[in-house]
Amino acid sequence: GFYSANIQQLPPDPMFGLKARYVKDTRENKVDLGIGAYRDDNGKPWILPSVKLAENLILNSKDYNHEYLPINGLPEFTSSAAKVILGNDSKAITEDRLISTQTLSGTGALHVAGLFIREYFKSNDQSDNTLPLIYMSNPTWANHFQLFELLGFKTATYPYWNSNSKSLDLDGFLNSIKNAPKGSVFVLHATAHNPTGLDPTTDQWKQILNLISENNHLPLFDSAYQGFSSGSLEKDAWAVREGVNNNNYKFPGILICQSFAKNVGMYGERIGAVHVVLNEHNSILNNAVKSHLAKIIRSEISNPPGYGAKIVAKILNTPEIYSQWEKDLITMSSRINRMRQELVSELQRLQTPGTWNHITEQQGMFSFTGLNPEQVSKLENDHGIYLLGSGRASVAGLNPSNVKYVAQSIDKVVR
Ligand code: PMP
Repeated sequence: GFYSANIQQLPPDPMFGLKARYVKDTRENKVDLGIGAYRDDNGKPWILPSVKLAENLILNSKDYNHEYLPINGLPEFTSSAAKVILGNDSKAITEDRLISTQTLSGTGALHVAGLFIREYFKSNDQSDNTLPLIYMSNPTWANHFQLFELLGFKTATYPYWNSNSKSLDLDGFLNSIKNAPKGSVFVLHATAHNPTGLDPTTDQWKQILNLISENNHLPLFDSAYQGFSSGSLEKDAWAVREGVNNNNYKFPGILICQSFAKNVGMYGERIGAVHVVLNEHNSILNNAVKSHLAKIIRSEISNPPGYGAKIVAKILNTPEIYSQWEKDLITMSSRINRMRQELVSELQRLQTPGTWNHITEQQGMFSFTGLNPEQVSKLENDHGIYLLGSGRASVAGLNPSNVKYVAQSIDKVVR
């Protein structure tokens, strides 16, 4: 039966627990810097103009309905999603060695990728049947650990954030790649690293990818924020495209987990895809991979949700709407950057002890502020400002009405 000896209550999810405390807080000037969801200058969720355009086209079209999608998802969604991340003329696409399937957003993509690795990834270096170790950055999105561990994997971390210099620990990262058992899996944040907001430079990426290739590890790109770092879809896909399109690397394959939650602002519609990149075209293997991805999807969710995928497919395949989307990405990323600047200039004006430049150097939705857990809990208790205990702030929660208050409160808690 179900006994309380075996089932002990878990602590609430840190992110959703934080949200619950924020909602309960009755202070009028409370500020939510927790969850990574975009807010506009009024602190409100934003429906992208491109999404509204696409939604109108879909709702008014003659063949609008709510039928089931195919098991592997809406074909015009998965094929155009692959082009957004890889580029239209990616060799993986033109050489037909890419297999894509629609998933429940980025989390679902990671889950399907994990299942696929567990069942089908065999490294030449491994004689026994042990599962590969899954390496993740320290720190990383907390859900990465439980997601892979639930599938039975052992996880490990590679150094990433140097808290003294508030920059990338490249040597530590590279050493981990060298010392990991050959044929491990390296989870790489494609852009806008969560939680640090710190991405490798192009030169650092080349070193990282080279060593992953030399050591026969499987790269798994987690792309949840394309367009949020620079405002440019191309620039933010640089690392993924370098890994996939540069023939100098000899990976055992590449997995890409793609989320559209943030970059179309449709968090709750669960739109995503997983892409498996094979080394060479082999139509027998292509079809086999596709069939096993289909089996995973069929047995877990039967078929993926349709509404959001139709909207994203419409955005990606309608040139005028696509250019509106590009503008929307600039609207979001530049507003976040403005908030970074205003926060830092206010902290500097107040001569708050410490250095704060890292906040403007970081990119994407988040800033790893460097605030310690004690300062974070003071911000929450004394000032009604909510961020994760790690000091991660969702910069999208700042706006012209609260940014000075947040800076002043940070000033108080660090003094
Ligand atoms: N990966 C990372 C690094 C993330 O930050 C997120 C969102 N918080 C995801 C994946 C997946 O998000 P979703 O399932 O909402 O697409």
